[in-house]
Amino acid sequence: MLIFSTIESKLRAYTVILLTLPLLAACIAFYAIMRQANITNAYHDIYTETSYTKYSINTWLEHRAGDIEHVAATPSALLKDPKFTSDFFKAFLKSHEDFKSLVLFDTAGNVRTSIPETQRGNVADREYFARARKGLATTTSLLKSRLSGEYIIIVAHPMQDEKGAFSGVLTGAISINTILQTFSLSYSSNSWRPFLLDAQTHIPLADMESGSAKIIPPPDGDTDTPQIYRNSDNARVIGASMPAKGGEWLVVMEKPVAEILGGMERMLLVLAIASLGTMVALLPYIRRFSSGVVGPVKTISALSTRMLEGQYDAECILIDTNRTPVEIATLYDNFCKMSERLSRYVEELEVYTSTDPLTGLGNRRSLQKEGARIIEMCKRSGTQCSCLVLDLDHFKRVNDAYGHPTGDVALQTASAIIMRNIRKADFAARLGGEEFTVIASHTPTDQALVLAERIRADVERTSITHDGHTFTMTISVGVAPVSASCDSSATPLDDVISKADCALYKAKNNGRNRVEQWHAEDATMSCKHHQ
Ligand code: GH3
Ligand code: MG
Ligand code: MG
Repeated sequence: MLIFSTIESKLRAYTVILLTLPLLAACIAFYAIMRQANITNAYHDIYTETSYTKYSINTWLEHRAGDIEHVAATPSALLKDPKFTSDFFKAFLKSHEDFKSLVLFDTAGNVRTSIPETQRGNVADREYFARARKGLATTTSLLKSRLSGEYIIIVAHPMQDEKGAFSGVLTGAISINTILQTFSLSYSSNSWRPFLLDAQTHIPLADMESGSAKIIPPPDGDTDTPQIYRNSDNARVIGASMPAKGGEWLVVMEKPVAEILGGMERMLLVLAIASLGTMVALLPYIRRFSSGVVGPVKTISALSTRMLEGQYDAECILIDTNRTPVEIATLYDNFCKMSERLSRYVEELEVYTSTDPLTGLGNRRSLQKEGARIIEMCKRSGTQCSCLVLDLDHFKRVNDAYGHPTGDVALQTASAIIMRNIRKADFAARLGGEEFTVIASHTPTDQALVLAERIRADVERTSITHDGHTFTMTISVGVAPVSASCDSSATPLDDVISKADCALYKAKNNGRNRVEQWHAEDATMSCKHHQ
């Protein structure tokens, strides 16, 4: 991908990925583990609470049955004295507020004593009466009170006389609201919702009057593992249900999953915001680091590109090494030093490859380059250029007479003479042996002849002293102008050199120690060197 092709973009991308991925993985793992733990804990609480409530309801009902049984166990006084019974009932109801009323029926099912005195009618058709006749106690299912329209349960117990014969039924009525309130089982708007349902219809006992809003109990299954299901409000909840009152009722408790995980999700949000904040806070450091790495690398890259293009003169800029990692700083430093060294070597090499080591003049290679450049410049400016080819006369004799080292000094002296007579814009080279070439810029032939003569005279009058020998030399010079048209097979430089060479040939033939110029008619003559 092109956008991640630079160190900088890679560094940024990887940093973000390196920070984000573990964070994301940690968040997911944290969420998965905590979610399970929270749901299991919540379920455990619900299960315990439901179980406790179920147990409390059953026990409470048993105690209420026990209360009635206890009253029914003192029948003689109750059966004989209505005034006593009435007082007893009142006292009982005062101390047992769960009961709404207490009624004593005779053997025919008619009311004998009722507190409050509202109870009328006959209960001989009731099941609890029939069961009492058989000597059985009963706690009825939910009934709608004929008098108040209220939902109640009736706790009934048979009465027996001294002889053990059936002598009536004692009933206590308990409002269902009393039970619901006692166990806080009426519908509340809390997230934790407890219900007491009719086991058959699943209608909350609290809603019996208002309508038939069913409650969906948790699905049956393994009671140890929480099951998430949708309740009657279509919310995802977990819940527990247990039968109470011998299976007639169902205690149900539920709690929305969103509520259970709400705290955890908020925590995750805080964690995510904190991590994001950390990332943002880290960004300047990443940027600092990246610029510390990228800056030097960019410079190295640019310098190396210039080197590849043959430019070795670029200088390394100073970098803030505080920001740069040690390895990069070392690399940068070394590269800069290497670049400087290479630049120096290239410079030296250029001098070396273009200079004659004995005289310091240009060599054949640099003559090709510089000579061509000067000729090109003259052409452009429309001025004339000339070429001088110079050769020391009988130089062999110098070597023979004074030795090779003295010959070298003589060559160096001749070079120095040439150099002090030409201008800066001119170029002099030693092509080997004792032969020299000068390309004189902006110099027509007449001026070139003057220059040649000046050099010749300078050589002639300069005496050389070396190794105990003192002597003078002479030099012959051929001069030729750079012509606009030349032999198409040769370059203008080669052309003018060969013409000047021809003129030199003439100078040698005409007695040496002289200057000759090339003429057009010389073109036909053979420029073979004299002997
Ligand atoms: P002419 O006047 O015809 O040019 O005669 P010459 O003796 O100068 O020419 P020739 O070509 O016969 O001899 C050139 C001599 O230059 C031969 C060689 O010993 C000498 N020579 C060439 N290169 C060097 C050098 O680098 N150092 C020294 N000392 N002598 C050199
Ligand atoms: Mg010579
Ligand atoms: Mg020669």
